[in-house]
Amino acid sequence: MVENNTQENTGEFGRMLKLEKLEFKKNRLAVGSSVPEESRRRLLKGFFAAGALAGLAGYLYWPNRWQYIVIHHSAGNYGNIEFLQRVHRQRQAGDPIDAIPYHFIIGNGNGMRMGEVASDWRKEHNLWGAHVSSRNSYRNFLGLGICMIGNFEKYEVPSAQFESLINLCSRLMIDYNIPVENINGHGLVKNEMTLCPGKYFSVTKLREELSKRIDGQV
Ligand SMILES: [Zn+2]
Repeated sequence: MVENNTQENTGEFGRMLKLEKLEFKKNRLAVGSSVPEESRRRLLKGFFAAGALAGLAGYLYWPNRWQYIVIHHSAGNYGNIEFLQRVHRQRQAGDPIDAIPYHFIIGNGNGMRMGEVASDWRKEHNLWGAHVSSRNSYRNFLGLGICMIGNFEKYEVPSAQFESLINLCSRLMIDYNIPVENINGHGLVKNEMTLCPGKYFSVTKLREELSKRIDGQV
């Protein structure tokens, strides 16, 4: 403490030092004020805001973002786009997207032809899905939802419908470069509490068939 005081108050030399320091501060302020600080800050802010918006838009709308496929069953014997749209409006009234919660559905011959694939504008515009719980939101944002019409908790998957699922999945895997391990049944996704797509639906068999198909393509 004493040392500091003596250094600061050593007569003429000390005063010169102080003056120099003051001069330096003044110059620094002068240089600072000559730069259009406010506009530079505003420009930067605008730049960051635009970047963040573009990033968000890209994340939500980027059509090639799909990294997962989640398989579901409708748990009913009948289904088509109109029917599932009505069900979705009742069950998930808060969803701003007035479309089926999935990106594709595959018919079972009751409401649609056996193995027929249909989509509405959720897939057309590559919007996020509403087919898994909020515990796994990333699977809604980054995952394509496919719903097989039928109840595979009660009966086996018809082979023609399963074949159609293999065709659809393999096309999506190639289009979006999705690895086979990123294809799962709804209830097998961690923390999802559902029997969907039913005990008769074998994800293992689906993955095996897909691996064969994809290997054959390469
Ligand atoms: Zn499901």
